[in-house]
Amino acid sequence: MKRRDFIKKAAGGALLAAGATTAAPAIAARKRFNWKLVTTWPPNFPIFQEGVEKFAKDIEEMSDRRLRISVYAGGELVPALQTFDAVSQGTVQMGHGAAYYWSGKVPAAQFFTAVPFGMNAQGMNAWLYKGGGLQLWREIYKPFNLVPFPMGNTGVQMGGWFRKEINSIADLKGLKMRIPGLGGKVMAKAGVNPVLLPGGEIYTALERGTIDATEWVGPYHDQRLGLHRAAKNYYYPGWHEPGPVLELSVNSKAWAELPKEYQLMIETAAAAANIWMHAEFEAKNMTALQELKQNHKVNILEFPADVIKQLRHLTQETLEQEAAKDLSFRQVYQAYKSFSQSNDAWSDISDAAYAKALKL
Ligand code: CA
Repeated sequence: MKRRDFIKKAAGGALLAAGATTAAPAIAARKRFNWKLVTTWPPNFPIFQEGVEKFAKDIEEMSDRRLRISVYAGGELVPALQTFDAVSQGTVQMGHGAAYYWSGKVPAAQFFTAVPFGMNAQGMNAWLYKGGGLQLWREIYKPFNLVPFPMGNTGVQMGGWFRKEINSIADLKGLKMRIPGLGGKVMAKAGVNPVLLPGGEIYTALERGTIDATEWVGPYHDQRLGLHRAAKNYYYPGWHEPGPVLELSVNSKAWAELPKEYQLMIETAAAAANIWMHAEFEAKNMTALQELKQNHKVNILEFPADVIKQLRHLTQETLEQEAAKDLSFRQVYQAYKSFSQSNDAWSDISDAAYAKALKL
């Protein structure tokens, strides 16, 4: 009996081994892919560009180097703000940036990055992955031959650096501020003159007084840019960008040609990078905030409640006006609004209540 069992087992083992050896050549014969990924970020831009490079390396290792992705920073292969077109036209297979950069072409894209007074990172992840947000995003990008994925989140940003203190909404009137997107449109309603400046020009403009205020990212990136040497008042919260999502977009034809397991690797690595980047931002921002306070004597100030209330009201007006202009903006706005209302109600008795409990 024993001997028979042994023979059975041995035969089973041999079968397993045979299975393994026949599977190996199948993998070896699998097609190799050399893809290009262009980003909107400057070379070596911390966290943003680093996260993309980590993503490419993860996939290279997961695929045993059969899916190789060469990463190019903004301007290295195509200009930073032409990555959308480059991926859409199939010049390259992948791009990384933020959806709201394309809101000139696709107004609804704003919702897939951040909306003033909208959802934070947690809410955005819930909406995108589980609340139908990602499906909507894919529908909106379909005519451009793009398949988007959430890949990174800055967390709640800071409200910005101001040369003078802001004590009332009237103090905003006439200020020149670097603030892009919907946040800029809201600020314009408050009498601000919003300007667009690339990262590399912000410090000099603020230091020389060409602009009176600027927003950028959060303590870590802002400190690296030296903004604390150009203005002393650092306001919170970043009402205009409460948890901006970064995007990976893949050319839909290239995506369709990819074997399923490689598609799964991309999806998995993008989700991993989504968490990795957010964790990096949170960990580095908390340290940088301490340094700004203690070493650089920055005034960390909260926007007065009345200013926030009025900006919130102006945001509502702005969103309604934008919705009236564009059908897909209107549709995504509806979906976003309905999800974020439920999210806020849940957050009131979960996160918000817990944050309040910590202060008692
Ligand atoms: Ca920002």
